[in-house]
Amino acid sequence: MTAIRILILDDDPFELKLLSRVLANLGFAPVITCDNGRAALEQMDHADGSPDLILLDLNMPEMDGVEFVRKLVEHHYAGSLILVSGEDERMLQTAVKLVQAHKIQVLGHLHKPVTPEGLAALLGKWLPPSQSKPQVAKKIYSADELRAAIANGELVNYYQPKVAVATGRAVGVETLVRWRHPQDGMVFPDQFVGVAEAHGLIGDLTRVVLTGALAQAKVWQEAGLTLRVAINVSMDNLASLDFPDFVAGLAVEAGVAPQQVVLEVTESRLMRDTRAALEILSRLRLKRFHLSIDDFGTGHSSLAQLRDIPFDELKIDQSFVHGAWANETLRAMYDASLGLARQLGMEVVAEGVEDRDDWELLRRTGCDLAQGYFVAKPMPAADLPGWMQTWQARMRNEFAAIS
Ligand code: C2E
Ligand code: CA
Ligand code: CA
Repeated sequence: MTAIRILILDDDPFELKLLSRVLANLGFAPVITCDNGRAALEQMDHADGSPDLILLDLNMPEMDGVEFVRKLVEHHYAGSLILVSGEDERMLQTAVKLVQAHKIQVLGHLHKPVTPEGLAALLGKWLPPSQSKPQVAKKIYSADELRAAIANGELVNYYQPKVAVATGRAVGVETLVRWRHPQDGMVFPDQFVGVAEAHGLIGDLTRVVLTGALAQAKVWQEAGLTLRVAINVSMDNLASLDFPDFVAGLAVEAGVAPQQVVLEVTESRLMRDTRAALEILSRLRLKRFHLSIDDFGTGHSSLAQLRDIPFDELKIDQSFVHGAWANETLRAMYDASLGLARQLGMEVVAEGVEDRDDWELLRRTGCDLAQGYFVAKPMPAADLPGWMQTWQARMRNEFAAIS
């Protein structure tokens, strides 16, 4: 195995010594130290090759850390980064986001003065390059491939439960489409929904997903399971004026009441024709379908939409939920979204509830519904009754422990 190369970049000689010593104590020696970005870049172009990990100080007089990151991208840096700074938490988090946007792995950030424990914790999570899996670029499919997949029935619906936080009761599911690809295995929507939107196939995709979801809702209904079924609606669906009649028609055919159907709307880009979308959403609402504003707080899913459209449900985006219990910035946004929904008399769903800490926050703050891996991952319809039994047992213990 080749030795692991670690580079420390910091303009403060004392800090360089301190970090080198901590790393040596953790068994990482020798390390390369540089006190300015230019020297570090020269090191990297050196015959020994690029480091596997860089500890990067953000505040440096000549080339600051943010500028250095841009140079790393230009050098096609393939290693990991730990950001170190005396700046406040929000500044560090912004820098982390920026580095991630450049597709460079960030192990985490450390406030100065760095403690050996803090550094050890980050390194403990690190898989050096020889041990980590190579990143496979995601394949994007062509319109023809997708058209054929829709025609051949290769799209399948997965369902993820939404549960009431106060009682643990499962009140609904969100339908999430998957492509069971004959060669590539399970393909996720981020690899083909955009293609469908760009090539006029989203109408067909939505029809298939909705038809399947409504048929499934009917099956559950007949088995005594009352579950509201949500489906994701693209902004492009809201450009064709016959959409409300189309949805209503399918619901009647399936024998499912509109009150049991939730349409989750995300606006990933600006609407071309706002009037069409407003007309369509108003008519769906008049027909008693439930409208949900998805990914609230991101993109264009914002206050303006809340003002203009009579949504019944607000879904707080997962980026404001997971970890909000420990992060003041996220917590402020989570609280604000919750409060807004309350004042407008809407039901609130928190997405991305991944662990017990997230779940406890929802309980403490009185959020209505939870959705996320802590409750359940999206699953095929056939797995739902089994999940329901396990979940109910889990909840009985949970509530018994509290009362
Ligand atoms: P979304 O509507 O925000 O759906 C939630 C996504 O978060 C799903 O990803 C789900 O699997 C994932 N998720 C659920 N719980 C957790 C959690 O605890 N942590 C994390 N990190 N993620 C969680 P998925 O299934 O890959 O779907 C991605 C997006 O694709 C959806 O985001 C939705 O915008 C879109 N999409 C899915 N199905 C359809 C569809 O039938 N039609 C349209 N137009 N878009 C769809
Ligand atoms: Ca959704
Ligand atoms: Ca969402």
